[in-house]
Formats: sequence, C-alpha cells, structure tokens
Amino acid sequence: MALRINDSEFYSIDAHSHLGRRKTPLGHGVASFLGDDLVRNLDEAGLDCAVAFPLGASYTDYSEANQIMADEMTKYPKRIIAFCRINPNFGPEATARTLDHCLGTLKLKGIKLHPEIEFFDPNEAELMEPIYQAARRYHVPIIFHTGMSSKASPGVIAELAARYRDVPVILGHMGVSEYVKLAVAVARQNENIFLETSVVGWMPLLLEAFRGVGTSKILFGSDHPYNPLPMEVEKISKHVAKATKLKPEDFKKVLADNLLSILHDDR
Ligand SMILES: [Zn+2]
Repeated sequence: MALRINDSEFYSIDAHSHLGRRKTPLGHGVASFLGDDLVRNLDEAGLDCAVAFPLGASYTDYSEANQIMADEMTKYPKRIIAFCRINPNFGPEATARTLDHCLGTLKLKGIKLHPEIEFFDPNEAELMEPIYQAARRYHVPIIFHTGMSSKASPGVIAELAARYRDVPVILGHMGVSEYVKLAVAVARQNENIFLETSVVGWMPLLLEAFRGVGTSKILFGSDHPYNPLPMEVEKISKHVAKATKLKPEDFKKVLADNLLSILHDDR
C-alpha cells in the first residue's frame, strides 16, 4: 500500500523513528521495538522506508544499541535506514572511536544526538567538533532532537552547524513549539540546516515552516513508536495537504527526495 495524497501515490520515507531495547519502558510503554515491529507498522501506514535510531537510554554508551541498528538494517535493507546514536559526554576520543566504528565498520547512515536526554550543549566545541568532523569524513547527516529545552534550541545548534556548511544538519521536531520560529530562521540562514516535521502539533506553526523555508528543506518524520505513525502521516497527507496548495512534486521532496539527496542515496 503506497501513501496517497489527493490523486497521487508517493514513495515515502519516515525521517525520524526509533528501534531497540531498553531496561524499562519509556513514555507510553515502549521497552522493546525492533525491525519486525517497525516494518509491520510501515506497511499499515503505507510507508516504504524509515530512518531509525536507538531509543533513548542515557545510562548506556549506545554501543549495544548501535549494533542492534546495524543488525536490523541488514535484516531489512530496503525498509530501514539506520543511524547511530552517541553520547558526547564520553569525551572527544571515545566519540571519534565510536563514530569510526559506527559509520566505517557498521556502515550506519547518520548520527542522532539528543542534547536534553544526553545532557550536553550542542555548541560546546570540544565535545561536538569530533562529531562534525566524522560526519564530514563519512558524508553523513546529523539529526538533533530540538525543542522542550534551551539545550536543544535551534539557535545553539546553528552556531556550530554554520561552521560545517558541507554537513547536513536536520532539526528533529523543528523546535516542537516555542522554538519553531527560530528553527525556521536558522534553516533560512544556513543552507545545510533542514527541518523535520514530527511532534509539531499546532498547524499554524507547521504551515509557517512550509511557507518560511519551502519544501526543499522539509523532511517528513514521525518520532514513531513514541507517536503513532498514522497520526503523523495524516498530519501531512490530510491536513497540510488541505491547508496548502502544495503540488505533487513538493510532497515528493518532503516525503523522500530531500532525505535521499542528503544521504547520497539513489534508491
Ligand atoms: Zn525521537
């Protein structure tokens, strides 16, 4: 089942989902969510593929979780694009070593960072530069959680992102609510900054982003399994589609092409 918007069908990729196992359930009860679960839900929602990274577990260094990501991508190479997740607080050397392993050996396709759960400042050069350098070396994007905390403000992230103009930086949740305007501003100022749609629940803000940065810089994402996939899919396929005059080629960019171009992936 392909994703339909108006009268067109689209090859669609979710740019923000999670996989893995945790010691304890998080949020609405998810403690284990693996490739089989994700692919079943993608099928139900009519999506072709998802970018996935580990569930939050700040008591770990994510080495086990990153291995699981690689295993699940091997199992479903057409359906899962796996990113690694790292905690920069283990220090610059550990970060460089971990990223060489994840991006070089495991061939993961990007880097997920959560400044609030992992508790670091995304403009702290000593901790962050090895991450930008690895992203540059392996030609992969960085996706940040943004919003709900000043540590995860688009403005703080943009400070270093602006110095690495060849590294694509995706602002997950585009600031959620209070930081959406700032996310739009930094995406307009920096060619390498992109916005991802998950979790933004107030339609006027989401539409402001579509108007403000244009469809070449917006990626559809769900934050599944924290959010139900159909909820985030309908936000775009029904409500954004109804409120905007976007053309099929715009949806094609938001639902897949922008992400594939960032990933240098010509599937
Ligand atoms: Zn997430």
